[in-house]
Formats: sequence, C-alpha cells, structure tokens
Amino acid sequence: MARVYLLEAQFPEVSGIEKLFSKLDLDLDGKFVAIKVHMGELRNVTYVKPFYVRKVVEMVRECGGEPFVTDTTTLYGLMRADALGYYKVAAAHGFVAEHLGCPVLIADGLRGEDGVLVRIEANAKTELKEIEVARLIYESDAMVVVSHATGHGATAFGGALKNVGMGCVTKRGKAAQHEVTKPLFDRERCDGCGRCAKHCAYNAIRDDFEIDMEKCVGCGLCIGLCRQGARFTTREMKESLQRRIAEAACGVLRKFDDVAFLNFLVDVTKACDCAATLPPLCRNIGVLASKDPVAIDKCSIDLIRKAAGRDVFASFDVDPEVQVRHAAALGLGSLEYELVQI
Ligand code: SF4
Ligand code: SF4
Repeated sequence: MARVYLLEAQFPEVSGIEKLFSKLDLDLDGKFVAIKVHMGELRNVTYVKPFYVRKVVEMVRECGGEPFVTDTTTLYGLMRADALGYYKVAAAHGFVAEHLGCPVLIADGLRGEDGVLVRIEANAKTELKEIEVARLIYESDAMVVVSHATGHGATAFGGALKNVGMGCVTKRGKAAQHEVTKPLFDRERCDGCGRCAKHCAYNAIRDDFEIDMEKCVGCGLCIGLCRQGARFTTREMKESLQRRIAEAACGVLRKFDDVAFLNFLVDVTKACDCAATLPPLCRNIGVLASKDPVAIDKCSIDLIRKAAGRDVFASFDVDPEVQVRHAAALGLGSLEYELVQI
C-alpha cells in the first residue's frame, strides 16, 4: 500500500515542506533533478508560490542533487505558448533564478517542439502508443513534481498525474491527448461575437464559426472564451482525455527510478492555474507528499470531497477518478493508500 504524508495546515509554513521532503527518502546524489511546477497564467494568483519551490530547491541540494525549475509551453496561444513568453510570466510571478536559487528552464524548447518520442509500455490497453516527452525532462535523472490540486473544466480534477502527463510533454504530446477534445459547436447558442476566432492560435475557426477539424488541436481555449456555451465537449470526450493523460504520464515516468510528488491542497480553485482565479471548492487542507502519483491524486480527491462536505466534482459532468483508475490499471501506482499525518 502506498504512503501519502499530510502536512495539515490552512496556510502551510515553508518549514513544513522540509518535514514532508525528509519522509520521501530520495536518492538524488549527483543527479540532475527537474522540479516540475506550473508558474501560473497571467491573471492567475493561486499557483504554488516560489517561496515553497525555493525550499524544494534547497532540499534537492541537501540530498546531493543539482536542481532546475521547469515547465513546458502551453498548447493554447496565450503568453506561455512559447518559451520567451513563458519566461516573462515566470519573472512576473517570481520564478527567477535569483530568488529560487537555481535556473528556470522551459523544457520543450523555444516553440514547444523539442522532445523525445517514447513508447508507452503499460499493464493495460492504451489509446496512445507513444508520447513526445519534453527534452529537458527526458534528459533529467530524477524529478520532483510540485502540483497545485484544483478542479478542471475538462478533467474535473488536476493534480500530479495531469502535471506530468500534460505538463511534461511537447506541444505534439499535448495535441495527441487533446485530439479527443476538439470542441463541438451549438450554432443555436452562438451570437457571432467572434471572440473564439480572434484568439484561436491555429486559425481553426472559419468565418461561419464552424471549426476546421484539420486545423484544430483541441486546446480548449475557445470553450473557455465563449460566454454563450456554444463550444463544448461531452463526458465521453473528457473521459478519453483523462485516460490519455494517465497514459502520457506513464510514458514520462517510465525512465525515472525515483520521483517525488508534492500536491498543494491550498486555494483549490474550480479551474487550474491556466485560468483566471476562481473561488475555491473547499477550505485549505494542506500539502501532501508521496512517491506514488496515483495514491497522492486519489488521496487529494478524497480529502477535497471531505473538506467540502459534498461531492464538489459533481458539477463537472465527468468523474475525476477516471484518470486515477486508469493510471492504476496501467501500473503507475496504487489506489489504496495509508495517510500519515506529520
Ligand atoms: S465565442 Fe461563442 S458566441 Fe462568440 S462567436 Fe465564438 S462560438 Fe459564437
Ligand atoms: S478551435 Fe478552439 S480548441 Fe480548436 S485550436 Fe482553436 S481555440 Fe483551440
């Protein structure tokens, strides 16, 4: 059974990260260690703050590792769609070497196209056969995955598995997962405002507002932008996306012997840190740590439901546990866990 450590705190102190980290017994001596984070989209204020990440950097060094803080470019076409834009957002949010104590490196190259194709080998049948892993993550020797646990419009929940499966791959890797979420269109609802067409980075929206499915990569930006609900995906599409995220995570994690996961259950907003900040789904819970990505996400979902006192995921029209069940079937980890308070 997997162990998940909980630092229960409404406002977790940085020193608590040290306590959590010490439980994980990581062998990082002489290794290049990717510290995978999400530095938040502009207008988002709930990403995991750099002062926590700085403590992770210090802990990696204490374990003998050589850390760098990293993320990949987005599939949708806003500021973080290329590395130079991402560095601007990173600096605005305090993710700079001077503060973190190590370099900040965008892992998939200038335009999100630099990666290594790996085969997905799993214990169960997969929809994806291969995935393109961001080069700097592929070339790392070990990884610490720092995730902000949140709700998510397409997957209901986003935590460690999503941070790895979607967050550690190139644009082609992201498009392979989003292939199944190219939006449907309800013409009756469309008022012709043109917001979706204006912001689609792939010029996939035609003059009559129908989507050119050859050009569309399923990034989902137009769904978020449409105020009329005219762009949408179905539950089946969202379930398939969750399965693909788990499969991509399987491809990314295959090469690592030792990976640590930290999930921050603080400011658990309805949408992820790619979106403008929304109200929280529940009170702050604290920070979880584990070496099992399935157990830590399953535990996060359980604790969020418990803290809210109701099933806060019901409004998403998709079960958030599709991803954890599929990841467990693939052999990525355990749905059973022992929760240890520290
Ligand atoms: S954003 Fe929505 S309402 Fe506006 S043009 Fe696009 S689909 Fe129609
Ligand atoms: S049509 Fe929508 S989902 Fe497709 S690429 Fe454009 S913004 Fe993304």
